[in-house]
This record gives sequence, structure tokens and C-alpha cells, in this order.
Amino acid sequence: EDIQVSRFIEDCMDELKLEQGHGDIKIKMQNQVEEDTLVIIDSQKIRRVIFNIVQNAIKYMEKDDKILTISLTERQDTVSISIMDNGVGIKKEQLPFIFNKFYRVDESRNTKAGGTGLGLSIAKQIIEAHGGTIWARSQQGEGTTICFTLKKVMNGE
Ligand code: ATP
Ligand code: MG
Repeated sequence: EDIQVSRFIEDCMDELKLEQGHGDIKIKMQNQVEEDTLVIIDSQKIRRVIFNIVQNAIKYMEKDDKILTISLTERQDTVSISIMDNGVGIKKEQLPFIFNKFYRVDESRNTKAGGTGLGLSIAKQIIEAHGGTIWARSQQGEGTTICFTLKKVMNGE
């Protein structure tokens, strides 16, 4: 399905806000993608990816002052979507494993948050099936950024 990616991500975020009703989280949108930029995606699946990432950000932000920053940037053939939180962060040694099935950081920290360790592995599978890539950056105590790319529909395609 051809989708206007800029509009699509904005809609996803609006849906999330309504669904979760998390009034205490500030969401900042930085959208630098042209309105008419298209991507071919299974929108249900990409929505799942965004929900999984945002769900983590919310779950693993323990602070009072929770800020989620969504940035959309555009290159020649791809659009990158990055979702940054200011939560607890992930240790460098653990970062390479977070996209693995059933991997969860530090059981003690995670038991109260709950989960199966599947959210990011599903996200990775979906993004790769779309021909994109997904990666993470994190600084312990400062926050985590999950970033993924989608291929643009080029002129004349
Ligand atoms: P599920 O998503 O299946 O409910 P989960 O959230 O534990 O369970 P993933 O979403 O795959 O599993 O995430 C893997 C692990 O990576 C998490 O258990 C958590 O330790 C860590 N993690 C993921 N996102 C963040 C984040 N935004 N901040 C801190 N840690 C994170
Ligand atoms: Mg998760």
C-alpha cells in the first residue's frame, strides 16, 4: 500500500495518545519529511512496530518528567523514524541483544514492568521484511533512541 509517511506517523502518534491516555508524558514531534513523500508499507504492521517501541519507552521511563521525541528525516531513498525517550537507558553490554527474541535486560529491573521480550524482535522482523533497518542508541541513565528506516517510493515507480 502506498502511504504518505509523514501523515501516517502523525496519525499513529495521535492514536497512541488517545489509546494510552498517558497525560504525564510529553510528546514532541520533529517532522522534516515532505507531505507527499510515499512509502510502500503494510500499515498495520508498521503501526505495530511504532506501538512496540513507544510501549517500551513508556514502560522504561521511570522519571516524573517523561519526554518522548519523535523525529522524521528524509534522505534520497529512505525516511528515518527515530523515537527517543529520556528513561533509564540500556547498558552498552546489553544493547546488542535487545532485538533478540525473549531478551530482557536485568530481570530485577524488569519484573515489575512485565513483558516477554518479544516486542523489539517483532519490530526488527517487520522492518527487515520491508527492506529497512532498525537499530538502537542508548546512554545509561539518560535515555534510549530506537531508529528505523523505510524505503521511499521513487518518482516513476
Ligand atoms: P514485550 O515487549 O514482549 O512486552 P519487553 O518490553 O521486555 O517485552 P522488548 O520490547 O523486546 O521486550 O525489549 C527488550 C528489552 O530491552 C526490554 O526488556 C528492556 O530491558 C530493554 N528496553 C527496550 N526498550 C527500552 C527503553 N526504551 N528503555 C530502556 N530499556 C529498554
Ligand atoms: Mg516491549
